[in-house]
Amino acid sequence: MSSDPAETWARCLLAIEKKIQKQSFQTWLQPTRCSHFDAEQMVIDVPSSFFAEWLDEHFFSLIQSTVAEVTSLSPQISFFVVEEDGSSSFPPLSKPEVAVPSSYTFPQEDDLNLNPRYTFDSFVVGNSNQLATAAARAVADAPGTTAFNPLLIYSGVGLGKTHILQAIAHHCLQKGNAQRVIYVSSEKFFLDFIDSIQNSKSSEFSKIYRSADLLLVDDVQFLVNKETTQEEFFHTFNTLHQNGKQIVLTSDCPPSELRGLEERLVSRFQWGLVADIQPPNLETRIAILQKKAATDGIELPREVITFIAENVTSNIRELEGALIRLLAAASLTNQDITLRFAQDLLKDAIRTPPSNITIEAIQTAVCVHYNIPHDLITGETRKREVALARQVAMYLAKALTKSSLKTIGLHFGGRDHSTVIHACKSVQEKSKHDMAFREELDKLSELCQYTGT
Ligand code: ADP
Ligand code: MG
Repeated sequence: MSSDPAETWARCLLAIEKKIQKQSFQTWLQPTRCSHFDAEQMVIDVPSSFFAEWLDEHFFSLIQSTVAEVTSLSPQISFFVVEEDGSSSFPPLSKPEVAVPSSYTFPQEDDLNLNPRYTFDSFVVGNSNQLATAAARAVADAPGTTAFNPLLIYSGVGLGKTHILQAIAHHCLQKGNAQRVIYVSSEKFFLDFIDSIQNSKSSEFSKIYRSADLLLVDDVQFLVNKETTQEEFFHTFNTLHQNGKQIVLTSDCPPSELRGLEERLVSRFQWGLVADIQPPNLETRIAILQKKAATDGIELPREVITFIAENVTSNIRELEGALIRLLAAASLTNQDITLRFAQDLLKDAIRTPPSNITIEAIQTAVCVHYNIPHDLITGETRKREVALARQVAMYLAKALTKSSLKTIGLHFGGRDHSTVIHACKSVQEKSKHDMAFREELDKLSELCQYTGT
């Protein structure tokens, strides 16, 4: 008979599997390995001391009798905790579960709904998110043991909170740093909690959350004004924190501004580290676009990347959106992605800074378009086509520059600001009903931008 530890243990596991509940088996036995086996000694590697204790207490005699049965030997069995360093030979704990009681199941990795793209590797670090990322990495490397407990990350939308939070989950699952990981939005926490009350399962709900090693809650601002859920969350928080379990939270504002959140939660949220993420600067935006393009195996001309990064500045979700639109349009129309192509496609998403456009440039563009001499537009004539062109030019001046109504009026032969208001209103009104006119306006405003640069 073979004395290969892996093979021997595999045969033992097959026998054990038949004797216990599937869930218990998957939770406690499947993640184990045998690293040594002979007539005297059998060493079972386990991912944490908690595992070792659990196996010792609940499954020791079963393991002992099964080993004797399968191998006809009675080696001394010991459990050995494989620390992170040794984890290279140790596959990730794929399906963490808690076995008892039977109706209470811990979310499995597949149920966590993690986006596989949201890893640390795909996250670009710049000045704007440096602190948050460093803290997130520290926490993911050693959950529950750093000073960052809880870690709370806050920022405006689309700046990477969810990405970082899920990166922590991926990292811990992959490294086996935390067996029982829960990632939820606070909205899901709320809905599940309500559901558990309705189905008289609130104690099971509590048990699940309070047995996590790593609890990641996205968008805690959603808990504002939900008192009963806050109460439940408060107790979950305390239990986990007291037991040295890691908590990571995100929010769309600093905790002190979460009005409608109980004071005791607000203060707990500040126990560890509160880190913000700022909008990325130009260099980081360029780096993010380059990384995304590289990940998708796409080569983009440098000037196109710079163009997008210079113009889409609000957040990273929009930056990605612009890139995706560009790639989709290029492949649909089978065109190369040139700067011109990008400018045409993204003109709606991108607002050229109005300061680039002058009122003169607008007048020139309008005159060219309507084929009228420049001096007529600033002059007195009330001829219909000139009057219309003048109104359109005033409207565009208002829409595309930061000039005051008074300044605009001055550029049109010293007209009054009320004339400018009237012009803007009539153009707006006409564009509501006249599709062709609206298109003309769009074309014109584009033309102004080129004339202006
Ligand atoms: P939030 O949760 O703050 O609203 P998300 O985490 O959903 O923002 O991020 C929006 C999008 O931007 C996601 O697709 C995410 O992958 C991407 N993203 C955000 N920050 C970065 C970054 N630093 N590097 C790479 N991608 C990022
Ligand atoms: Mg988010």
